Amino acid sequence: MRIVCVGGGPAGLYFAILAKLANRGHDITLLERNPAGVTYGWGVVFWEDLLESLYRSDPESAREIAEAAVRWDQQEVHIRGQTALHIGGYGFSIGRDRLLEILTRRAVSLGVDIQFQRELGDVSELADADLIVACDGANSTVRRLQGAHFQTNVEVGRNKYIWLGTDKVFDAFTFAFEETAAGWLWFHGYRFCGDASTCIVECPQETWEGLGFDTLGPDETLRRLEGIFPRQLAGHSLFNQRRDLDKAPWLNFRRLTNERWYHDKVVLMGDAAHTTHFTIGSGTKLAIQDAIGLAGKLGETQDLQAALKAYEEERRTALLPIQDKARSSAEWFENVPSYVGQPTIRFAYSLFNRRGGTSWYYPFYLASQTAALRGLVRSLHSARRWVRQGGTWAPSRRMGTELRLPSSFR
Ligand SMILES: Cc1cc2nc3c(=O)[nH]c(=O)nc-3n(C[C@H](O)[C@H](O)[C@H](O)COP(=O)(O)OP(=O)(O)OC[C@H]3O[C@@H](n4cnc5c(N)ncnc54)[C@H](O)[C@@H]3O)c2cc1C
Repeated sequence: MRIVCVGGGPAGLYFAILAKLANRGHDITLLERNPAGVTYGWGVVFWEDLLESLYRSDPESAREIAEAAVRWDQQEVHIRGQTALHIGGYGFSIGRDRLLEILTRRAVSLGVDIQFQRELGDVSELADADLIVACDGANSTVRRLQGAHFQTNVEVGRNKYIWLGTDKVFDAFTFAFEETAAGWLWFHGYRFCGDASTCIVECPQETWEGLGFDTLGPDETLRRLEGIFPRQLAGHSLFNQRRDLDKAPWLNFRRLTNERWYHDKVVLMGDAAHTTHFTIGSGTKLAIQDAIGLAGKLGETQDLQAALKAYEEERRTALLPIQDKARSSAEWFENVPSYVGQPTIRFAYSLFNRRGGTSWYYPFYLASQTAALRGLVRSLHSARRWVRQGGTWAPSRRMGTELRLPSSFR
């Protein structure tokens, strides 16, 4: 089969890898508009469920991703630079550039023809493809060119956000809320390698305008943000990847859905098909799971339309609970000014509970404010991770793949 993937993000690269692994005879081309090694965004978080899917699908790239990732323990909430409240949990993160570099290398080694600096402008360029995978992100050109078929719906979030990096290394996943004369601003910070962290700053539109971010240039924006969060950044700098812009790249989140995910031989995947709010850190996982789903369905039947239909049905259903959580989380962040007046302990709990459904946890949350209990919980998490990756894990054995996570995951 001649397959063209448009977009070299996690969805496109991972699908190309799995399709090649399933059938070396497939002729797969991937078009990416950026040069090799150039991407937007900093680190992304994920949890063991993603890593386990990766190990089951392609242990070779999974091992490299696991080794390149870092673990963060704990989540802390800082309000006005002072209060550190703890909301437990742990997770992993990896630089987006590193993730794409690993997947690109793996895809090339399997014979995928990756063409960088190749921006698709017209689907008719791909007339000889048997399957066109539109994995070109939330603003998908392929989807836009065929818009009527997919019936795309976009809801634009009220808050402004900007995806920055910093050389401050946050040990815990850090939520920091600061009050200014124009209102509240906050960031989510987490390290994704030995010497850098992601720092996503968010605020209501009125605060953004009130602080003059609508008129500031990129460097002035960074300096002003550093001035708002001096205690959390502790003298470290903020960085913006996009040096080519006149304005800092503030955005409003766009929640995107499609009534249909395929038309004829074109199929949507990853952010081109659906977006989920970044405050639940799942878009990369869902993009990769779409890739696993599509490659799996193509391997089950020779009937392309049947495979695309089955893929859409399976993935649409799988997404529903995550999309509900993402919507609740986005709404919580859009209402920060009305929650932040609560006692800080309550506020931090409502942040923890923003996806809904865990009100029974409050007594444990209160107890977890003591360092000794947190230490105990961390030990339990370590034990759980150890058991989970012990090589006896049933699904991985069934697939004939031994699940072995490196020590950073224990
Ligand atoms: C602020 C922020 C924080 C996030 N944090 C997390 C997180 O912590 N964890 C997580 O799991 N997810 C996170 N996400 C979501 C995640 O980044 C996306 O869901 C994920 O990258 C989607 O992968 P994709 O392959 O579908 O699309 P993308 O990663 O967007 O890749 C699309 C690719 O297509 C290319 N392209 C676009 N148009 C064309 C064209 N016409 N021709 C050729 N190439 C083209 C682009 O250059 C790009 O490389 C975050 C998102 C944001 C905005």
